[in-house]
Amino acid sequence: MADQPLDLAEAIARVLARSKPLPAETVPLRMALGMTLYEDVVSELAIQPFDNSAMDGFAVRAADTAGAPATLQVVGESRAGRPAQRTLERGEAIAISTGAMLPGGADAVVRVERATRRNGEVTVEAAARAGEDVRRAGEDLGPGEVALARGTVVGPAELGVLASLGVAEVRCHRRPRVAVVTSGDELLAPEEPMRAGAIYDSNSLTIPALAKRAGARVISVDRIPDDPEATQAGIEAALRADVAIVCGGVSVGEHDHVREAFAWHDVRQVFWRLALKPGGPAWFGAHNGTLAFGLPGNPVSAMVVFALLVRPALAKLAGAEPRRARTAAVLDEPCARARGRVSALRCSLVLGEDGWHTRPAPRQGSHVLTSMLGADALALIPPGEGCVAAGERVEVELLEAR
Ligand code: AMP
Ligand code: MG
Repeated sequence: MADQPLDLAEAIARVLARSKPLPAETVPLRMALGMTLYEDVVSELAIQPFDNSAMDGFAVRAADTAGAPATLQVVGESRAGRPAQRTLERGEAIAISTGAMLPGGADAVVRVERATRRNGEVTVEAAARAGEDVRRAGEDLGPGEVALARGTVVGPAELGVLASLGVAEVRCHRRPRVAVVTSGDELLAPEEPMRAGAIYDSNSLTIPALAKRAGARVISVDRIPDDPEATQAGIEAALRADVAIVCGGVSVGEHDHVREAFAWHDVRQVFWRLALKPGGPAWFGAHNGTLAFGLPGNPVSAMVVFALLVRPALAKLAGAEPRRARTAAVLDEPCARARGRVSALRCSLVLGEDGWHTRPAPRQGSHVLTSMLGADALALIPPGEGCVAAGERVEVELLEAR
């Protein structure tokens, strides 16, 4: 019964149930990209901090321009960062730059294009409305407002808002630390010469790259042979991370030692084998707060299982919403179902008039790593007989998203 392939949704639920958001750390703002806020960030300032001009032009009292054309005396200047030295009186104008503080007494800005300046005076062509081309203090954020809620992933816009509030450091969930181990006697580093029966190790590049893109910190990448002691030692080191990922050697072959080595280190199995194609021979366990994944060695299977199981776990550990990468799309071709298993097809996405459409890459073998090139998403074809017809909507897991 334990070896019965587990339903994908159930597997995701079991992984997420064991993924607990990591504690907080304080990081300088520039380090926070991709991290998740541990607490609300409350604005201490108003944004904009003061009434200011939306245009280059002249700050005026709208009432003075009512009978336009009107000629006003230019009595000073307000530049960005250098406010005018005096307030505006009746019949006066102050030259003003975009973003500069609106002088006291002024209630509108006349754009430079609608004014003619000559000999210390400016003639305004048309009457200004009160408030015209003025950006009010606090229009964007008021003091005491929650600018960003806890659980928000810090992206470029969040960095910008935090910077505009004068926030220099933020409390974020610590990034998950990930250790990657690739396993197999046949594996070569790219700089090694090719020999008979060997292959170059691609998982030691793809999996750490996926982990980094998911916001994790990769603390080690090791390659181990198909040997019980080496596997035990490699796994022991990897278990110091928050997430230990071993690729290959997980299955039932005579030279597969990974599950045994996890057991030897008291990592309790949560499941083994998924009702998923590719990616069936996947293992998951947990030990003292460390999550342990045994991914299939096949490069496509490893990437697929990473996207569907490891990435949501990393998102949850990092304090973020784990299911942001799921959406739906219309199949542009019929796709065969697999009996008893969800098929994860490598697909491109194209925006049609009625939303996203998806089309599988022509070759889908779990060893065909080039099927991942240009793949935008995994289309998840439900198990069963026959095909899902073209025009049907299916769930897709976006590969670029977190
Ligand atoms: P395994 O899961 O160890 O049975 O390996 C399944 C298939 O994936 C075999 O064809 C392996 O040679 C291949 N494989 C295992 N690990 C890697 C790796 N790191 N890079 C590329 N191919 C691999
Ligand atoms: Mg192997």
